[in-house]
Amino acid sequence: MSATGIDLIGVPSDLGVRELGVSLGPTALRLAGLTDVLELLGFDVRDLGDVPVRILDDPQDTPHAIHLRSIEHYSREIAIKVSESLAQGRVPVCLGGDHSMAIGSVSGATNVRKDLGVVWIDAHPDANTPETTLTGNIHGMPVAVLLGDGPAELTDILGPGPKIRPETICLLGVRDIDPAERGLVERMGIATYTMYDIDSRGIRAVTDDMLDRLLAKTEGLHVSLDLDALTKSVAPGVGIQNSAGLTLREAYYLCKRLGETGQVVAIDVADMNPVNDIDNRTAHTGIELLSLLLGKEFNFDYRGYLARQRDAARPPTARAENGS
Ligand code: MG
Ligand code: MG
Repeated sequence: MSATGIDLIGVPSDLGVRELGVSLGPTALRLAGLTDVLELLGFDVRDLGDVPVRILDDPQDTPHAIHLRSIEHYSREIAIKVSESLAQGRVPVCLGGDHSMAIGSVSGATNVRKDLGVVWIDAHPDANTPETTLTGNIHGMPVAVLLGDGPAELTDILGPGPKIRPETICLLGVRDIDPAERGLVERMGIATYTMYDIDSRGIRAVTDDMLDRLLAKTEGLHVSLDLDALTKSVAPGVGIQNSAGLTLREAYYLCKRLGETGQVVAIDVADMNPVNDIDNRTAHTGIELLSLLLGKEFNFDYRGYLARQRDAARPPTARAENGS
């Protein structure tokens, strides 16, 4: 049997949040050894590079959906790449970058897999609209957009209309929800597992519940992981650090269970911001969780392995000059 193919698609965007550093997320994940690790785990990896992220002239720019035209442009680029990757039987993995990237990635994935389920792991529901947003930042809108509530420039990527149904998405890890977002989530009946639910019931029961709900109604899962769902000691390198998010053990359990379903067909790793990180810790956490989502047990010290590989590749003089 041939190795599972993984396509890495970088989205160096900060236009959805206007925050210093988040556009460097894909670079941080690559420098942390992402491709090497996935190849070590036996995957056939193609790095498709970054989609172009540019600020475009927008005469209709509005403070309620900032950089709308620019985000429409890269969302379409992402959607095309994700769609082509899935159609080739590979697993597209989008590396962000702010979470507006998921508008393109989920639109691309559902273009090929109509009955796809979405697991949205995030401290936030990202369910604002231009009418409800307090900031105008589109990174707070992708869930609403994918459900068909948002600017047509974004809801109609690769074709008009909603890309997912309320019963085919679950939100997990939520702890910060605006009143208007709560209204949309409740009105649409979206299953939402908050940190309070996880504290009360435990990650196992919550994961069971979510999978029972999704797997009955969907074929294939798109996991959109916003790293701010994790508590800041393991993921400081995000936009808004989370003082009471998922622990590393909870996140490992969740991602391992998702990987074990064999249903994960597309993944986003979003909101990686190396400017706020410590020793690239968040990138390493992201890589470990990604590996679990892809169904691989992660039980070796890859950081030590890669350091030894790098050291062995350096010429002897360079090692001597550095005193090593
Ligand atoms: Mg998010
Ligand atoms: Mg978030």
